[in-house]
Amino acid sequence: MLPVQKMPLHQPPLEEVAEVLQKGLANNFSTAEVKVVDCPDLTAAPFDLAEKGLSGRPRILDVGGPDYLKPFPQKEKKYSFADVSNLGELPGSFLIGAGAGPCHHTGTNCELICNVQLGEGGSNKSRIVKVNEGDGSYTIMEEKSGEFSLLGNFFLSQGKPGKVLELKVKDRTGPENFVSCVRKTLAAHYGDKTVGVGGTFLLQTGKANIHVMPDFSKTALETDEQSDNWLKFYEMDAPLIHVGEIVSGDPEKLHLRCEHFHCFSHHGQGGHYHYDTTPNSASYLGYLNLAEAVYRIDIPQEKKYLF
Ligand SMILES: [Zn+2]
Repeated sequence: MLPVQKMPLHQPPLEEVAEVLQKGLANNFSTAEVKVVDCPDLTAAPFDLAEKGLSGRPRILDVGGPDYLKPFPQKEKKYSFADVSNLGELPGSFLIGAGAGPCHHTGTNCELICNVQLGEGGSNKSRIVKVNEGDGSYTIMEEKSGEFSLLGNFFLSQGKPGKVLELKVKDRTGPENFVSCVRKTLAAHYGDKTVGVGGTFLLQTGKANIHVMPDFSKTALETDEQSDNWLKFYEMDAPLIHVGEIVSGDPEKLHLRCEHFHCFSHHGQGGHYHYDTTPNSASYLGYLNLAEAVYRIDIPQEKKYLF
């Protein structure tokens, strides 16, 4: 059985978090509006998620990590959505987020966009994105095995309707990407009281810098420069639908990846979000909920890499 460590998270009232985020996002975007709303039906277009809402025992799962990818991949590190949701003490529920695709099924290392309702009558709407070695293009496709490799950062809940944070921003005026801006705002305000959020956001307009992992590197990935030379970066077009999670800190030294979102689209694009490349025309719409706890699953022994 995989080792699991549970860290409870601070859960301030949603209204308070909305106020905090509104102020923080306004430092980085010319328009920023954050409020508490009833979650819209996220199964509807354009989100196309596997369940309607983000409520019901919400929690974050941080599984494995980049230490299983670098400097050389540990391909035996395989996980299933069902197993990690059991270890997160919420079997048969709604799991979304970012990870590495199941290389033992796909035949190559790739990006995972997890989007699955594991309950009875649920559906697996997960996707992978892989690089085509011949011409350096990429392909997004459905991935139904219910498994993944190496690492994953997920938001797990019962997927019920309920109150959530709605974030609407546009026209980026500051240096922070959308995800880091949310994380840094929470970290600055809540300090050592760690807060976690997860859910979905849409890059509604503009373009974004997105990477896709190619097949495993045959040479060691030890430095950031070696990783960046190995990764494939693309400029992709809105609308891009992102899923993932953010944790404001790591006080218990669980080697947490504090932000990780992957995106998919209905026009053949997807991958790992870095930042928008069109600040003047970027707009975002996000729905996030607070998590009760982080479950750290299969923490690497060697803790050297976080990205
Ligand atoms: Zn990623």
